[in-house]
Amino acid sequence: MNIFTRLSPVDLNAICCSSGQFVASTRKLHVGTDGPKSPPAAGAPERLPFSRVTEEDLAFFRKILPGRTITDPDLVESSNVDWLKSMKDFFSPAGSSEVLLRPQKTEEVSQIIRYCNSRNLAVNPQGGNTGLVGGSVPVYDEIILSTSLMNNILSFDSISGILTCQAGCVLENLSLYLEERDYIMPLDLGAKGSCQIGGNVATNAGGLRLLRYGSLHGTVLGLEVVLADGQVLDCLASLRKDNTGYDLKQLFIGSEGTLGVITAVSILCPRKPKSVNVVFLGCETYEQLLKAFQLCRGMLGEILSAFEFLDSECMRLLNTHLKLPNPISDCPFYIVIETSGSDPKHDAEKLHNFLEEAMASSLVSDGTVATEESKIKALWSMRERVTEALTHDGFTYKYDISLPLEQIYQLVIDMRQHLGGRAKSVVGYGHVGDGNLHLNITSSTKDPALLAAIEPFVYEWTASCRGSISAEHGLGLKKRNYIYYSKPSQAVGLMGNIKAMLDPKGILNPYKTLPDDVK
Ligand code: FAD
Repeated sequence: MNIFTRLSPVDLNAICCSSGQFVASTRKLHVGTDGPKSPPAAGAPERLPFSRVTEEDLAFFRKILPGRTITDPDLVESSNVDWLKSMKDFFSPAGSSEVLLRPQKTEEVSQIIRYCNSRNLAVNPQGGNTGLVGGSVPVYDEIILSTSLMNNILSFDSISGILTCQAGCVLENLSLYLEERDYIMPLDLGAKGSCQIGGNVATNAGGLRLLRYGSLHGTVLGLEVVLADGQVLDCLASLRKDNTGYDLKQLFIGSEGTLGVITAVSILCPRKPKSVNVVFLGCETYEQLLKAFQLCRGMLGEILSAFEFLDSECMRLLNTHLKLPNPISDCPFYIVIETSGSDPKHDAEKLHNFLEEAMASSLVSDGTVATEESKIKALWSMRERVTEALTHDGFTYKYDISLPLEQIYQLVIDMRQHLGGRAKSVVGYGHVGDGNLHLNITSSTKDPALLAAIEPFVYEWTASCRGSISAEHGLGLKKRNYIYYSKPSQAVGLMGNIKAMLDPKGILNPYKTLPDDVK
C-alpha cells in the first residue's frame, strides 16, 4: 500500500516571532584550549625509514597467502585509491603500494604482522576503503593488508542478540543476515554496501542510528586484535558487563589501524523494529528545525530513531547531479525523521500527534510520510546520497564537525560569508540529532587559494565553540595535524605514549591519526 501522505502548507507568519527566541551565539575566534604546538601542516609527511619490500619478502607472503599476495599493479591500483579519489590530489606520490595482501584467517594476519615488524615493513590495514580522511590508503609504499576475505559470521545468539563475526564482513551483509533473524545492526551508514565492520570499529563510525542505539563504544562487546608484534589479543568477549580491569577494546575503537589490526568483532544488536516510519519535512529556518527536534524528542520519545537534516543547497545538488526530485515543496531546510517501534498503531498515533503539533505551531511548512519500504528507502536516499551528489559537483573539501546544536548551521552561514564567491557550493547536512554537521565546500578543480581561505578558519571557528574537528570520520592523513584544535597537548602526548608502547617501530598505518610532531 502506498502511504505517502502529503502534509498541507501552513501560514508562515508566526514563524518569525517564534524563531526570535533563539539567541545568536556570541563567539570569538581562538584556537583550542592550549592551541596547536606548531603551525598545522595539511600536506604530506616525509617518508619514514621503513624497509622496502624485497623478493624474499614476497616469497614469504606467497608461502602464507598462496594466490592472495597480489602484486599485479592493475589489481593493486583500486586499493591505492581512496573513495573520494582525493589522495593523489592531496599530494603526490600518495598511494604507491606495490603489494596487496588478502588474509582469510587471524593466524595469517598474525604471521604477516609479526614478519613485517621484524623486517620494519609498514602496513596499511584496509577494510571497505570508504574512509573519507585518507586513512585507508597508503601514503607511500606501505603494504596494504585487506580484510575483505575475512568475511565469516562466527556466531549469533538469537536470545541475547550478540553477533560475532570476522572484521571483513560488509555492513550491509550483516544487516541482511540479522534482518532474517528479526534483528538489526546498531549502526547504519550511506557506505553500508562497501564498508566493513572492522573498518567501522576502527573509525568508530557514527552514522544514522547513533541517536537511538549509541556509539560503538557502547555496542561493541569484544574485539580480537592482532598487535604490532603479531600477538593475537583475544578480547572477543560476548558479555554485557565485565569490569575486570581496564577495558582494552576501547583503545582500538576509533584507532584507525594505528594500534592493531582488528580481526573479529562481537557486537550487541537490537531487535528489528516491527514498525518503521520515515518523515521528510521542510522548515523555513534553522531555528525552527531545532524547535522541531525539541518537540520531536518530547513527543516521539522512545520511538525516535533518527533526526537528520540537509539544506536547500544539498537539495539543489541532488536534483542537478543525481536527478532526484524534491518530494516536497522547496524549503531552506529539510529534515528526515525516522521512528522505529514495536506497535504500528501506537507509533502511527504518536507520529500523527507530533506532525499535527509541528504544523500547528508552524515549525514545519511542508512534508511527506512513508511507511512502505520502497518509499522509506526513497526518502532516506535524499539524505544518504548527498555525499555522492557532492562528488559530481567538483573537488570537495569535507569537514565533519561536532558543535553545540544551536551553533551548527551558523558555521555554514559564516563560511559562505567568509568565502564570498570563491567556492562553487557551500553546503550543510548531517546528523543534527547528534550535534554533527557535515560542511562541504566544492570548487571546479583543486584550488589551494580556496583551501587557504577555509583552513584554519573552519578549525578556529570550531575550537571557539569547543567543538570537535572530527565528529565521526577520524583524522586519517588529512586531519592529523589539526588534532590540537580539539584535544589538549597532554592528551595528544598520552596518545603518542600508547602508540609507542603498542607499536614501537610505528609500522601500523604510519602518518595517520597522530600529528607529525608526536611520531
Ligand atoms: P576503510 O575505509 O577501509 O578504513 C578506514 C580506517 O580504518 C583506515 O584508517 C584503516 O586503516 C582502518 N581499518 C579498516 N579496517 C581495519 C581493521 N580491520 N583493523 C584496523 N584498522 C582498520 N562514516 C560515519 O561515521 N558515518 C556516516 O554516516 C558515514 N557515511 C558515509 C557515506 C558515504 C557515502 C561514504 C563513502 C563514507 C561514509 N562514512 C561515514 C565514512 C566511512 O564509510 C566510515 O569511516 C567507515 O566506517 C569506514 O569503513 P571501511 O571498512 O570502509 O574502512
